[in-house]
Amino acid sequence: MNPPIFLVGPRGCGKTTVGTELARACDSQFVDTDHWLQENAGQSIAGIVENEGWESFRARETATLEAVTAPSTVIATGGGIILADYNRHFMREKGIVIYLCAPVATLVGRLEAFPEEGQRPALTAKPLSEEVSEVLAERDALYREAAHHVVDASAPPKEVVIQIITALRLACA
Ligand code: ADP
Ligand code: MG
Repeated sequence: MNPPIFLVGPRGCGKTTVGTELARACDSQFVDTDHWLQENAGQSIAGIVENEGWESFRARETATLEAVTAPSTVIATGGGIILADYNRHFMREKGIVIYLCAPVATLVGRLEAFPEEGQRPALTAKPLSEEVSEVLAERDALYREAAHHVVDASAPPKEVVIQIITALRLACA
């Protein structure tokens, strides 16, 4: 039985995209904590934050993380999941944590090309490139602290999957 694999990193680093392909390659389940949380809450993340506040959203996020953690499962996490000490320790203890690391320019390019249509509230009122740069500067150390492995997420998705499989030395096709 393979341990759960947690993908961490900022918005646009490819957690959902790479996670889906990794799960297929490893014959594992795929879960996206943001999607799971929204389906179970019956409202969007923006809606939860607006109606209940960030603190409530973060509590729901931790409960989601605990609920979806299972063997042979690839878990794409929300970008801010690493902010809580509890979540970082939980992921490291329960499974293998992979940081999908990409430069600010790559992240901004992807977010501009594929806006999430308001699924997530903006974290600041600043232009996207400034927001991405500031959020990454604040969180990069936490992603690294949480991660067992750091991969280059600026490569195409299939190559990122290969980097992860190589890092894990998983026996999958
Ligand atoms: P996250 O879940 O980390 O926010 P997504 O998987 O939603 O990121 O990816 C954001 C956008 O960037 C998507 O439209 C996706 O097609 C694109 N993308 C993701 N990973 C890559 C990659 N490795 N190379 C090129 N484009 C990518
Ligand atoms: Mg995602």
